[in-house]
Amino acid sequence: MATEAQPLGQDAAWLGKYDDVHMHVFGTPLRVLDHGQGMRVWDVDGNEYLDFLAGIAVNALGYAHPDWCEAVAQQAQRAAHVSNYFATKPQIELATKLIELTGAPQGSHVYFGNSGAEANEAALKMAKLYGATLQTDDACPYRILALTHGFHGRTMGALSATWKPAIRTPFEPLVPNIEFVEANDLDAMGAAFATDDGKGPVAAVIMELIQGEAGVLPLDAEYIRGVRALCDEHNALMIVDEVQTGMGRTGAWFAFQRDDLGGITPDIVTFAKGVAGGFPMGGMISFGEELSALFSPGTHGSTFAGNPLGAAAALATIGVIEREGLVAQANERGEQLRTGIMATDNPLFASVRGRGLLNAIVLTRPCAHASVGWALDHGLIINAPSPTVLRLAPPLIASEQDINEAIGILALMPNDLATE
Ligand SMILES: *Cc1c(COP(=O)(O)O)cnc(C)c1O
Repeated sequence: MATEAQPLGQDAAWLGKYDDVHMHVFGTPLRVLDHGQGMRVWDVDGNEYLDFLAGIAVNALGYAHPDWCEAVAQQAQRAAHVSNYFATKPQIELATKLIELTGAPQGSHVYFGNSGAEANEAALKMAKLYGATLQTDDACPYRILALTHGFHGRTMGALSATWKPAIRTPFEPLVPNIEFVEANDLDAMGAAFATDDGKGPVAAVIMELIQGEAGVLPLDAEYIRGVRALCDEHNALMIVDEVQTGMGRTGAWFAFQRDDLGGITPDIVTFAKGVAGGFPMGGMISFGEELSALFSPGTHGSTFAGNPLGAAAALATIGVIEREGLVAQANERGEQLRTGIMATDNPLFASVRGRGLLNAIVLTRPCAHASVGWALDHGLIINAPSPTVLRLAPPLIASEQDINEAIGILALMPNDLATE
């Protein structure tokens, strides 16, 4: 276990060059990474890190998994890309597999994109077409409901449903008739459905079941079931954004499948991040024939949609997750991680929350930024979604020993780091 701050040499020089030529939207990166293997990644100075962020819940199989590398290399030699005037076997196999994993009914269809934001753009466009079928009075336009603290992406449509004012309001006006409703408050959601005061029908509710970017905030099972019931009652679509929670991360293939929800069925599921184990891919699944039929030739599209390299990467990722039982394992490791963190009795840690391998530590002091830096200096990669929250989203391949190693580093995190 690395416990000493590690020296930086080439890193500093590369970071200077980075700042010179990159748009400053991400701030200065923490390190310049060179290569990885499994749970570990090395920077350009040769320092080693245990990666408990996985490219923000993306690298489900860690770095350079042999099955993933083999699948991508083989597909690269066959065809890296074809236009959507043509199809490829991997995309067909992948769409079939995703419908199977979600348990979506016969007649459900997949649209592939390249990111989480694009997945939600597609879902919102479908919701708008659906809304138009509900609207009876043009003076009372249909509405889409989103939740406070929700995050759905940075493109104009997805941003319109993204709550955080600091990242949304500079770009207003955005897509109209999207309303924010207090998360986890079923009365507020019920009230939002009311169509008095010239308010049109609700076309859709878009929500995460664990609000990842907000700091891994889980919504109550009762609330989620209640939203489903309200959507049923009012003929509204329930769009579940599984971009961060999907593909096994929370101990079920998708978070909507968790036991205590009693088998709810969404109308649209969006996915991205972990789906292709590091290859940029996202998409959405519309449940059932009738809804899916709202998209017809020309309604939507993207040059890279269904890209065969991405599809091959996704099939390899899903194959390993299935063969190695990583969904069930995410539950066990998550339990081990949460229990182990609290057992450190580190006074900096107020509580832990999360499911499977999507977890957060709530800090007793607003020093999350400094904590991330300290962890990095001690060989552990994590991040800080807010000043009092640390997020841990390791690859699904994390072993018992990897979890213990991370806990060992976290146990030493000092209680006097700089606050924000
Ligand atoms: C990351 C994320 C997105 C956006 O995905 P991008 O690939 O960054 O566009 C959307 N929704 C959720 C829940 C996410 O966590």
